[in-house]
Amino acid sequence: MLTVAIVGRPNVGKSTVFNRLAGKNLAIVDNTPGVTRDWVQAESDFGGLALRIIDTAGFEGGPAKSLQARMLVQTKAALSQADVCLFLIDARAGVTPGDEIVAQALRKGGLPVVLAANKSESRAALAGQNEAYALGFGEPIALSAEHGLGFAELRNALTPFAQEDVEPEESSTARPLRLAIIGRPNVGKSSLLNRLLGEERTLTGPEAGITRDAVAASWQWQGREILLHDTAGLRKKARIDQRLEKLSVDSTLNAIRFADCVILVMDCGQPFEKQDLTIAALVAREGRALVVAVNKWDLMKEGASKAKELQSDLDRLLPQVAGTPLIAISAKTGEGMEHLMLAIAGAEQVWNKRVPTAELNRFLHQALQRHPPPAIKGRRIRLRYMTQAKARPPTFVLFGNQLKALPESYLRYLAHGLREAFELPGTPIRFNTRTTHNPYTE
Ligand code: GDP
Ligand code: GDP
Repeated sequence: MLTVAIVGRPNVGKSTVFNRLAGKNLAIVDNTPGVTRDWVQAESDFGGLALRIIDTAGFEGGPAKSLQARMLVQTKAALSQADVCLFLIDARAGVTPGDEIVAQALRKGGLPVVLAANKSESRAALAGQNEAYALGFGEPIALSAEHGLGFAELRNALTPFAQEDVEPEESSTARPLRLAIIGRPNVGKSSLLNRLLGEERTLTGPEAGITRDAVAASWQWQGREILLHDTAGLRKKARIDQRLEKLSVDSTLNAIRFADCVILVMDCGQPFEKQDLTIAALVAREGRALVVAVNKWDLMKEGASKAKELQSDLDRLLPQVAGTPLIAISAKTGEGMEHLMLAIAGAEQVWNKRVPTAELNRFLHQALQRHPPPAIKGRRIRLRYMTQAKARPPTFVLFGNQLKALPESYLRYLAHGLREAFELPGTPIRFNTRTTHNPYTE
């Protein structure tokens, strides 16, 4: 159940909104002794959304203090109890100093805030709605508690905070991990395949549902089944004249599409050639987890410092998958094999990651404050909230207005922030946008 605290200065309509939300299922528990004594609470089914609602107006019965002090106490109390704050202002009055006090406490609190401009039933409210945007909690919802307007919008805005993420984690490790080894000719793909298979691992038959030809090998690694895609030529290498062999984009694409995680093999003597970058970009475009293996490390004299340098080259040359693990290996000596497998498992985990909606919206709120989206033809692009639609790769849905005009650079800014905030290195990050309609601003 989602706990929503209604906050705002006196007279903005908190109790009226509360009564609307509580509807017929009103279950006031304000006479319960103890913590909740000064609160009015109700549980309600708000259009299918299970809510616990707290009206902080019920808190006003405390000892007489200044109005400002009372509002602060109320707001802080709300912050300690709620999952999300519904911050009400009076649209007809615009933003008042009292609203600013509440806003400041909410900003410090770090809880997600849904802003609503109440008393919006008349045109006179439009100016107040625009002013409210400046509070930094996104676009206000135009609400009229008295006339029952804007509640569908309010429900939409609250819904993402209620969805705790579904898909159970175990599904990702119960499945075999599909792996592909790709790269330019002669970088050492076949040698790596042989090294990974080693002596104790045997070529086994493919799983049901997978084309026989597609799987070169399967083996167990730390209890997990690994299926390795048979990139063309990987097994029948000997018959091909290696100097004449060209990179086959088709077979590379097939391998990428088969895989959860792709190992891009490069030759440490010629790292980040144009073709390497092309292949890496394909992996990112197809939304797969990526690990870069820099092979023939036995020939490398510089060692660790060189590895660091290559990692920073990778982040610079492939910003769309910044943070992709780069592992130094030698298929010849076997150096780095365990490290490589660990990186693969890690990359696949990141690829599968789900971020809870409440945390995402806290992140979005801060990201918007730090760097608001630009205005397009004088109208500001408004981002309301975001959810993660799916994993594999992490895919986020942004809700707001004019999102078609949202520049790529802003999405990159958000992607970068998400990587940092939720530990999503390397993995491709995707965005979808949805425009929400607000009848009062259209
Ligand atoms: P609170 O102090 O924030 O709990 O505010 P109340 O819920 O007690 O409402 C304060 C006043 O605003 C009351 O007279 C309400 O009838 C009025 N009010 C509440 N919602 C609306 C609305 O949507 N439109 C208008 N015009 N008045 C409203
Ligand atoms: P592929 O075309 O990517 O499958 O590359 P191969 O596995 O056929 O390797 C190409 C050449 O590089 C062969 O001569 C290998 O012996 C050599 N090679 C592969 N891995 C290594 C390595 O780790 N160190 C060294 N020194 N040579 C390697």
